[in-house]
Amino acid sequence: MKTLGTLVATLVFCVGFAFPALAEGDVTPSQVLITNAKVFDGHSDQLTDPVSVLVEGNKIKRIAASIEAPASATVIDAGGRVMLPGFIDSHSHLMFQLSFGEAFSSDQFYWAYVSTQAAKLYLDSGFTTVREVAGNSFSLKKAIDRGIVAGPRIYPSGPMISQTSGHSDHRTDAQISAMIGKEPSIPMKYDMAQLADGRPEVLKAVREALRRGASQIKIAVGGGTGSYADPLDTTQYTDDEIRAAVEAAADWNTYVTAHAYNPDGIRRAVENGVQCIEHGNLIDEPTLKLMKKKGTWLSPQVIVYTYHPLGYTDDQKAKHDQAFAGIDNLFKTAKKIGFDKIAFGSDIITDLDMLKRINEEFVHRSQWFTPVEILRQATSKSGELMALSGPRNPYPGKLGVIEEGAYADLLLVEGNPLEDISILTKPEENLVLVMKDGDVYKNSIE
Ligand SMILES: [Zn+2]
Repeated sequence: MKTLGTLVATLVFCVGFAFPALAEGDVTPSQVLITNAKVFDGHSDQLTDPVSVLVEGNKIKRIAASIEAPASATVIDAGGRVMLPGFIDSHSHLMFQLSFGEAFSSDQFYWAYVSTQAAKLYLDSGFTTVREVAGNSFSLKKAIDRGIVAGPRIYPSGPMISQTSGHSDHRTDAQISAMIGKEPSIPMKYDMAQLADGRPEVLKAVREALRRGASQIKIAVGGGTGSYADPLDTTQYTDDEIRAAVEAAADWNTYVTAHAYNPDGIRRAVENGVQCIEHGNLIDEPTLKLMKKKGTWLSPQVIVYTYHPLGYTDDQKAKHDQAFAGIDNLFKTAKKIGFDKIAFGSDIITDLDMLKRINEEFVHRSQWFTPVEILRQATSKSGELMALSGPRNPYPGKLGVIEEGAYADLLLVEGNPLEDISILTKPEENLVLVMKDGDVYKNSIE
């Protein structure tokens, strides 16, 4: 089924950019009427009574107790099932689902083929939007937007940018010092990660990502588990280097998000204008209070720490476990001080089989949050975070909510996840409808 958007895009693509696009109204947009659905709108802690939702093109046109089906509309009877907004993974790595061994011994075509499977798995689990916080996903995004490959909407960051010896430095001991000759690691060569030191290099690295269409910029300001040379206590980037990244992003009217576990890195990032922190596992209360005061977003994950990414060394595994141990304190502190700018994310890497289990993140979070709090994180909250890209937002309509005018990214589920969130861990059985951008990707009703 083609939406108006796809049709116009196809026509524009075929006849060239000089040809004016069709005016709205020249073609009747496709309509889908979903009847008898109890809606979680992304905010409310209660489901609505059964309603009808009319989708026109790629947007929700109307929601009402009863809507007469337009003549050309496809009608889907939800049978009283629960409707949710499509989920959002605020920390995805579509490009990084190869094991370390495979990643470092494959060309970029193989990386790309694996990423197309990852993109499909996201949709299978109900994720209609992801924020790629590292990875050269620009062409994958283009292929998905043009309908060539099935996958979620992508908010691309381009390569994660760090200092030499930092979280983007995947060079091995076999590689010579950059002081002698700049020999890139494989992730650098494919523009999945970049090293930049000092103001001029940071400005240039950020501008290169913006040139490709980054909707936000990702930097690393402290040690990480996927890299080799940086223990978790390390602080990365000086104030001025962070400011350089923030200034270059601000000139493009978007923001910087920063990878960090320890409070020193987080504090330095927040004080220099970074607007979102990825992970934050080892944070302390004063630093989380600073984030609250500044209105900084927190983008944490649990599931990635429940396994060891494929190919991790013993040293990397130890760092990973150290990060895992901090999460309990992170979420307890957030609850204690009333910090609620918390997004939903997985950070799953190296493992397509783990990606099939992505919805276990909902269950892991239920140690600290109620089902509705978790569902809000995965829908309206993460939708707010996506909107932080301002004019660089590639999908400027409303995401993560079910309301008139919002994008038609909709799910129908068997059972009530507000009562039992674990039903989401069986998407093949319990996720009976997945609609993205008004197009039905999966419908197993009947
Ligand atoms: Zn990550």
